[in-house]
Amino acid sequence: MRYFSTKDPNHPFSLRDAVLLGLPPDNGLFMPERIPVLPQPMIEAMRSMSLPEIASIISKAWFGDEIPASDLETMCQDAYPFDTPLVRLRDQTYMLELFHGPTLAFKDVGARFMARLMAYLNKGESRKLTILVATSGDTGSAVASGFWNVPGIDVVILYPSGKVSEWQEKQLTTWGNNITALEVDGAFDDCQRLVKEAFLDPELRGSLRLSSANSISIARLVPQIFYYFRAVAQLPTGSADPVFVVPSGNFGNLTAGILAWMMGLGVHRFVAATNSNDVVPEYLHTGEFTPRASVSTMSNAMDVGNPSNFWRMTALFGNDLEAMRKMIFAATADEATTARLMRLCWDECHYLTEPHAAVGLYGWEQYVKQNGSLHPGIVLGTAHPSKFIEAVEAISGRSPEVPAALAEVIRKEKQAVRMRAEFSELRRFLLEKSKI
Ligand SMILES: *Cc1c(COP(=O)(O)O)cnc(C)c1O
Repeated sequence: MRYFSTKDPNHPFSLRDAVLLGLPPDNGLFMPERIPVLPQPMIEAMRSMSLPEIASIISKAWFGDEIPASDLETMCQDAYPFDTPLVRLRDQTYMLELFHGPTLAFKDVGARFMARLMAYLNKGESRKLTILVATSGDTGSAVASGFWNVPGIDVVILYPSGKVSEWQEKQLTTWGNNITALEVDGAFDDCQRLVKEAFLDPELRGSLRLSSANSISIARLVPQIFYYFRAVAQLPTGSADPVFVVPSGNFGNLTAGILAWMMGLGVHRFVAATNSNDVVPEYLHTGEFTPRASVSTMSNAMDVGNPSNFWRMTALFGNDLEAMRKMIFAATADEATTARLMRLCWDECHYLTEPHAAVGLYGWEQYVKQNGSLHPGIVLGTAHPSKFIEAVEAISGRSPEVPAALAEVIRKEKQAVRMRAEFSELRRFLLEKSKI
């Protein structure tokens, strides 16, 4: 399979280049030359399969030309010692729990496969690969966890000082070995800018092999397809095609869902659910795409004003707005609405949820209001409630159970290199590191 930039249909890239570069040099997004379609009997057979077994089938369809099947199977077994269970809340409403990985958010699913794929494709390289990642919280910890102790790959995480929760900070700064955390005196946008500058610096690029691990990488997108298939495999037999409700920020999760549907998975529709950062719902309603600065909300992992997967999504629909509208229903929850759905979910279903999934529950409520509930609705539960414990306690008046992994990380000691939000400081740090 070859890959092309969204900005250049003439220059093909190999899987290895697409994965190790992360982004094409022209600042577009990598797209596969075609989307593999699975035969229906194969999808039907997934009913009796585990997540790693389903992941093996899908990864073979994408990467089987380049990587032997047995190696892909090993990667999938190794990446997924946990499941993505489908929980029925009531009637036709389901929650797909994507938060049973080590850092308790759905980003583990993408990052753990990505780490193994990158390590595999990087084998035999004499020079170390350094992955730079700017994070507002969840991405950095999932990437760190995924790459921890992977030979030949170092990870440098930049996070904004004082702007992540204490728990998130512990999850970023307590790894050691090949993971370094840089605590930047600035905002998330500064961290992102510093990473971009590093990629544009010729001397740095000469002394270090740099790569990125952000959500627009193909290596993170493809594994997110796995759990859409795993979800449908868990619906009661004879169910109608489901509506997938996706709490969205950068729209990687929803893009993966669209790919799953294009691969042959029976999906009735998608719901794009956002918080007040609503540029995509606005686009679906008005046809105008107006990226802008993000506003802060409780569902902070979705505070994105210029979603990086937008152009990939429109490309998948052949830039046809009507085709996109037919398949994607959009809804936007403000803070009061998010809180209302968190309370409603506890009162009516006795299920404790957090702000991101609550935005999804609102999307489903609105969908049902307009379309009825002939189809099951699967809301993607993107984070464990204990990750957002303050909001959950304040709004639901209940304390979520804290999983052992999170309780353990809290006891560890923070190790971070503090720096100002100046590129010269990051540059000096990376050049020093390249000499080790
Ligand atoms: C990253 C994240 C999202 C948003 O996912 P996108 O793929 O960026 O749309 C939603 N919820 C949680 C908890 C996240 O960490």
